[in-house]
Amino acid sequence: MTFHEKIRSAGVVGCGGAGFPAHVKASSKVEYVLANGAECEPLLHKDLEMLTREPDAVVRGVVQLMASTGAKKGIVGVKKKYEEKLAGVKSALAATDIELKLLGDYYPTGDEYILVYETTKRLIPPQGIPLDVGIVVNNVETLRNMYYASEGIPVTTKCISVAGAVREASTFTVPIGISFADVIAAAGGATVADYAVFVGGIMMGKLSSDMSLPITKTCAGLVVLPVEHRLIQRKSLPEQSMHRIGKSACDQCSYCTEFCPRYLLGYDVQPHKVMRSLSFTATGEDVWNQWAQLCCSCGLCTLYACPEDLYPKEACDKSKADLKSKGMKWDGNREVKPHPIYDGRHVPLKHLVGKLGVKEYDVPAHYREKEFSPKKVRIPLSQHIGTAAIPIVRLRSEVKAGDIIGEIPDGKLGSRIHSSIGGVVTAITDEIVIEQK
Ligand code: SF4
Ligand code: SF4
Repeated sequence: MTFHEKIRSAGVVGCGGAGFPAHVKASSKVEYVLANGAECEPLLHKDLEMLTREPDAVVRGVVQLMASTGAKKGIVGVKKKYEEKLAGVKSALAATDIELKLLGDYYPTGDEYILVYETTKRLIPPQGIPLDVGIVVNNVETLRNMYYASEGIPVTTKCISVAGAVREASTFTVPIGISFADVIAAAGGATVADYAVFVGGIMMGKLSSDMSLPITKTCAGLVVLPVEHRLIQRKSLPEQSMHRIGKSACDQCSYCTEFCPRYLLGYDVQPHKVMRSLSFTATGEDVWNQWAQLCCSCGLCTLYACPEDLYPKEACDKSKADLKSKGMKWDGNREVKPHPIYDGRHVPLKHLVGKLGVKEYDVPAHYREKEFSPKKVRIPLSQHIGTAAIPIVRLRSEVKAGDIIGEIPDGKLGSRIHSSIGGVVTAITDEIVIEQK
């Protein structure tokens, strides 16, 4: 089997959030392989822990991906503030030509457009992908999983941080499909009675109060917060209310645009103009919506920049959905040139943490070796971009950890799914439930 066939067989997808099937990237031809260890979601530290615990596996993944894609250059991007913790990475890199690039501690350094610019000075064309400038970007955990795939080991576990209002903020490797409740308990349990979690991070994650939900291949971690926390209250507001408040209260100060990292990098994203679309009927809305098309939903405008506590990010999300439903394409300025103030207007993570009101939870989430043996796992058939996997097991059949339980539909973009524990299949819907005997 070739490298990309092994990756396909092992069910490797992007661990950085989107879940793009990794075998597709591995079969492209590029100049650079870029390992994304920039990790900028407040309170989550699983990429740092991955790099310090398994530097050899990550670097081997980079080396193998470089060979598979024909890349001449490899870069590992990590924040400078962690330099003293990177002895293992430096030693693993010593025998290679791969470069370690140290990045600033601001949000969102991990955004692909920003990471590509910061490490190579290349600018991805509007609505493009790193491949358009000869680069393939993968999260460090994805690269580690690629290396394991080359050794015949499928993806059955996930590295996650559990942070926020828990007794001991921690990073664990857990079986895919384990419940939120189980991993919160492993972190000593919540310190408050009523809480909700940001799944995948405060800035770009989803809010959930259902602790029976499973950890998937793309989940970077859980941030537990008391239900009365301002962030939970804000995120819980119905979308229509966010837009109604924005329509009446936005004074067009344009701070949201002035702090927008994509705008500062030279892309035509102007959330203050998108806010105008909330006031327009169908006749003008489409025009204002266009200014949202290149937004990466980083959340900085809503959670940091807006002095009125409005929701420009959510207005951009709505605009992008509107444009998509109408089949409209972005037709704005194609020239990309970083704003003269780009380097001077980054938002330091420390300031962001203060503004979010989570300073008390800003502690290291050290890796803790722990054996997880959940009685039950729920493994979704869709944990990736593309078509859901097709179940290939029957109800009440027995499976072992590592068995294939979901297959990629013929000719479709997708990813294989494997069982993360041994047991009996007790339900098959849009997920496969496996319970220990
Ligand atoms: S920062 Fe807030 S008030 Fe100012 S333009 Fe943006 S949404 Fe409106
Ligand atoms: S969420 Fe806001 S700050 Fe982030 S890219 Fe979109 S418009 Fe810019």
